[in-house]
Amino acid sequence: MIWLRTLILLVLWALLAWGLQRLIGDPAGWITFSGGLVFLLLWRAWRMRAVSHWAHHPETAPPPSVGPWDDILAPLYRYTRARARELTEARATMQSMLSAAQALPDGIVTLSRDFHLEWCNRVARHHLSLSLPDDRGQNLLNLLRAPEFVAYAQREEWSEPIIVRLTHGDQERAMMMHLAAYASDRRLLITRDVSQIEKLETTRRDFVANVSHELRTPLTVLAGFVETLRDMPSDALTDEQRSQYLGLMHEQAARMQAIVEDLLTLSTLESSPVSDLRPVQAPTVLLTLRQQIEALSAGRHNFQWDINESVDVLGAQSEMSSAMSNLLTNAVRYTPEGGTITVNWQSTPDGGARYSVQDTGIGIAAQHIPRLTERFYRVDRGRSRAVGGTGLGLAITKHIAIRHDAELVITSEVGRGSTFALQFPPERVAAD
Ligand code: ADP
Repeated sequence: MIWLRTLILLVLWALLAWGLQRLIGDPAGWITFSGGLVFLLLWRAWRMRAVSHWAHHPETAPPPSVGPWDDILAPLYRYTRARARELTEARATMQSMLSAAQALPDGIVTLSRDFHLEWCNRVARHHLSLSLPDDRGQNLLNLLRAPEFVAYAQREEWSEPIIVRLTHGDQERAMMMHLAAYASDRRLLITRDVSQIEKLETTRRDFVANVSHELRTPLTVLAGFVETLRDMPSDALTDEQRSQYLGLMHEQAARMQAIVEDLLTLSTLESSPVSDLRPVQAPTVLLTLRQQIEALSAGRHNFQWDINESVDVLGAQSEMSSAMSNLLTNAVRYTPEGGTITVNWQSTPDGGARYSVQDTGIGIAAQHIPRLTERFYRVDRGRSRAVGGTGLGLAITKHIAIRHDAELVITSEVGRGSTFALQFPPERVAAD
């Protein structure tokens, strides 16, 4: 094809030169023919320069046209273009895989056969305190300095993950680490921070132990009385003794009942979704509570009620009533006779609302305050039991507060009294 075209060009050119020679004589024909050849050679040389430049820099665009060479170079152009497209696609795939690895919630580390660090994602950097590129090529076993992980890595049998405790600054983290072999001589390490799960597991275990302990005591007492009554001849007890025993048994049964009821309330609060937001007429709720609480106090305390009738909040009425009642009951329980209990329900300057119960009771030492909302936490276990407490009231109140975006604020001074307040944000205040 190329030869044919060149041949046709030369023949045409020779014919033109021959024609000129016939028309205007010998020299003109020869000059035209030779000039034409020289022009052809120069033009080719100039085009070849473009080809040569492209051959040295194949990443640049190929020259637009190099005359007869186009046919020779066309397959090469096509090949380089296809390669370039494949390379771009491969780069895009790699980039998207790297982004996916970065987005994983777990840490990923790629290692050589002998555990030298090749690459890791952001989560792994955070989990294992690694820094790239500084640590690239370093041995991970030396970097982590965790003997249990070294033993696990050297075992070369990684069907199960292990939990390694890693300290970072003054923080200890429980890290689940799982090794896997891939691509014949590579290692993949997957890390997951399980500190929170471990903490929850401990809390759950403590909770079960606490519940068992709380129920065991009244149950033991109750069982003791039942046995005594069963084994005693019916005429061995006077009516007075019998009714005293039954009274004590009833007390223990009521205590167990109160614990179980509070546990069920807590479990319902935990498992049910936050109920619909409805305007709760807090003043009406407080009016009902006022009668109950003054009855519980039975005249032993002075009450001051400062209720703003026009402030309502959005929430669940039964939960609000339970939280408000818990704080009032505690004030009555932990304030000796003659003390004053001041109840406030007001709007706050920021547009929110605040419910507070202030008492002049026994007060609470500062070190106990942060722990009061833990389940079964009591400053004085004996005293709480004596007044019929379950140790769950403030845990329930705190839960309800969270469900209403409110904050439970506790201030107290031993011997002077305490203030328990529920502070609701403006978004929770119902518009009139
Ligand atoms: P309880 O059923 O024991 O009252 P709570 O969860 O309601 O359980 O309260 C936890 C502990 O907080 C109580 O045992 C008590 O020690 C302390 N407490 C709660 N309210 C008051 C208060 N108004 N004055 C003094 N101590 C209080």
